Amino acid sequence: MTLKERDKKHLWHPLTQHKIHPDAMPIIKAEGALLFDDDGKEYIDGIASWYTAMYGHCNPYIIEKVNTQMRNLDQIVFAGFTHEPAIHLSEELIKILPQNQEKIFFSDNGSTANEVGIKMALQYHFNKGEKRNTIIAFNDGFHGDTFGAMSASGLSVYNGPFEDFFIDVQRIPTPNNENFEEVINKLSEIISTYNVAAFIYEPLVQGANAMHMFEAKYLNEILKICSVNNIITIADEVMTGFGKTGKNFASDYIETKPDIISMSKALTAGFVPMAVTSCTQEIYDAFLDDSIGKAFFHAHTYSANPIACSVAIAGIELLGSEEIQKNIKNIIKSHTDFDTKIKNHPKVKATRQKGVIYALDLEIEMDRYGKKRYEIFDHFMKNGVCLRPLGKTIYILPPYVITQGQLNKIYDTILVLLSSL
Ligand SMILES: *Cc1c(COP(=O)(O)O)cnc(C)c1O
Repeated sequence: MTLKERDKKHLWHPLTQHKIHPDAMPIIKAEGALLFDDDGKEYIDGIASWYTAMYGHCNPYIIEKVNTQMRNLDQIVFAGFTHEPAIHLSEELIKILPQNQEKIFFSDNGSTANEVGIKMALQYHFNKGEKRNTIIAFNDGFHGDTFGAMSASGLSVYNGPFEDFFIDVQRIPTPNNENFEEVINKLSEIISTYNVAAFIYEPLVQGANAMHMFEAKYLNEILKICSVNNIITIADEVMTGFGKTGKNFASDYIETKPDIISMSKALTAGFVPMAVTSCTQEIYDAFLDDSIGKAFFHAHTYSANPIACSVAIAGIELLGSEEIQKNIKNIIKSHTDFDTKIKNHPKVKATRQKGVIYALDLEIEMDRYGKKRYEIFDHFMKNGVCLRPLGKTIYILPPYVITQGQLNKIYDTILVLLSSL
């Protein structure tokens, strides 16, 4: 039996209507920016496997560090115990995070990192004797698939079965040049009507919302209003973190810093799942008390797994290296050059870029999960390029180690698509 056939026997894939799309594509090997299927055909991973493998797949430097760690300490309960990899990672994270961040809390994935952030914010107020139970979020944000994160996500077309169980979330539109006054009015109205605990947002780039981008100055005004009203701000940097916007974190572009930051994805460079929620000293201090009940009673069995921590430390070392920083600059410039070439193409409706994230909207009619979307995906795969269109949006978010030749091949394949439309 082929891998495809064996897959169908017992596996249930995420985000998949198996009746319409029964086939998954087997990948048997990955190296640098390349993926290999079971026929030996290679594909350029233009989205770094959902923005995780930013230093290249199976990065040899990370492998070496993991190997050493695996021989030394694999796992230890993180309640009541500690270990050097977690301590070292916390020190490295605090060095690159916005200056107000002081404490590091571990979990397993982007959704749980946001869940932790939301729970921290709710309990922060609870511990101070204030009952605040409303969360503010953007209309079209995405924060994950666990209940709290899902409640905060505005892209809820497929959340129907769960809506009755959501936590209380009030929404504001994502700000732009035209609607900013409306956004601020709506925000003020929500703040005066509800007991608002927190505001959760993806800073500058909304990944699942087709890489929608918005300006730092608008977000800054919203954050300032939250701050004045003692509303805890949670920056979801699960997608934007670790260099993708051209700075270590998207929050680095914004004057007002968040109280809480969630991160995952590139944190562990595509090797293993792990997530971190960082916060300020002030948040942490609100949990210090003679009563145990004011502590943060949230744990995951694999919290701060030493092997995952060793991956993250190696990843941060690579991120800070001259080579990766040079590559990031080169990708940014290549995207900008490509943009100049195609932004006036009749089949291109709009383009946008932040750091190594580049997106273009096609000038065609199609559904987000419609047939055309899958045809475009097939076009890329046939040509050895792995890009996953978000509806009519095609985006590139390549691993930092991608070569110029590989980048050019992605651009050329997009050009061929445009002329075929
Ligand atoms: C991917 C993502 C999440 C969810 O992370 P998971 O690891 O898939 O649970 C949350 N927020 C943003 C911005 C993301 O891109």
